[in-house]
This record gives sequence, C-alpha cells and structure tokens, in this order.
Amino acid sequence: MIQNIHWLGHDTFKITGDKIIYTDPFKIKQKDTADIILITHEHFDHCSPGDIEKIVGPDTVIVTVSDCAGKLAGGKPGNIRTVEPGDIINVQGIDIEAVPAYNTDKKFHTKDRGWVGYIFTVNGRRIYIAGDTDHIPEMKTFKDIDIALLPVSGTYVMTAEEAARAALDIKPALAVPMHYGSIVGGKNDAERFAKELKGKIEVVLLNEE
Ligand code: ZN
Ligand code: ZN
Repeated sequence: MIQNIHWLGHDTFKITGDKIIYTDPFKIKQKDTADIILITHEHFDHCSPGDIEKIVGPDTVIVTVSDCAGKLAGGKPGNIRTVEPGDIINVQGIDIEAVPAYNTDKKFHTKDRGWVGYIFTVNGRRIYIAGDTDHIPEMKTFKDIDIALLPVSGTYVMTAEEAARAALDIKPALAVPMHYGSIVGGKNDAERFAKELKGKIEVVLLNEE
C-alpha cells in the first residue's frame, strides 16, 4: 500500500504514481523532476528554495501558501498555485485539498498564519500530510484517509503521544510518523508513536532514503 511512498527525511516524501509528487522538499540529495510539489508553510525546513530548484522543471506545479510563494517568487519556479486552508484544487488531474495546520499550545505556527496540510489522492488512495501542526479538532472531519503522514517530534509540533491521539481521530488505514531525525526528534519518538497505536492503527516506520 505504501511501496510508492519514499521518505527522504523530515517531511520530505516522494510519492510516485500517475504523477511524481514531492512534499516539503528539504535536504534533497538527488536531482529529479517533480510534477507537483506540495509545501505546507514557509519555515526554512519546509519551504526551501534551494531544494525546490533541484526538483523543479518547466512543467512542475508548486502548491503552497502565500508566504512561501513570496519566498520563491525571485527564483526559477514559475507555476505556483497559492492555497488557503479549505481550498480544493485539481492539479494535473490530482485532487488536492488544503487543510488547516496550527499549534494549539505553542506559538510557532499560529492559526492566523493560514498554513496548511494536504489531503490528496494518488492511485486511488487518499493521503494526508499534516504539516507542522498540533492535534486539532478539524482532524475529526477528515474522511476516508488511507495514509496519514504525521509529525511526532514534539517541540514545534505534536509529541508522539499527541500524534497517536490525533491518529485515533483521523482513523487512517495506515499511519506514518515524520518530522524526526533531522531538526528535532529521533527514532524513539516514531517508535513511541507506533507503540501507542499498537492494536488500533497500523503504523509503518519508513526508512530514510
Ligand atoms: Zn514549521
Ligand atoms: Zn517543521
């Protein structure tokens, strides 16, 4: 079910199917050409112009929020679609919904910034990448999520335990921890996340590629 999802570290995933989709490209090691790049917010480890340049081609569409779009405006990428929480767009045949992402008890990602996560469909599977968020009430409203990519590092985002509670609200068929092993958090966070959900939701720890 997730053979087509490659974890390149932190919140960077390469998802292959009808299209090549990257999320929050950061510390990209290999040049590539993405069809679609989804960027959740403007923090340097998510909206990284130098990394985006490594995977952008003339037909690549970058989907992001306005402050990240502003950061990219001076560079090469030309096809930018700006979204706000709640927007639903179709890019190259892929349905993409921008959903809210924010902190509830810290100030790094306040709700008024309008930053996002995404729900998008690849090969008939609905994938949710949460972005930098806490466990928020909107998660209960997400329907039919097949794969949820959730931050577990704590500090700027949910802790492993909070992420496990979020997963129980989202009810994905499969959950994958992310946002560890790079800036903050370690494998023990991912393992705690998996342990909390044992017998409730299947968790897959991907190896960084
Ligand atoms: Zn952030
Ligand atoms: Zn982050």
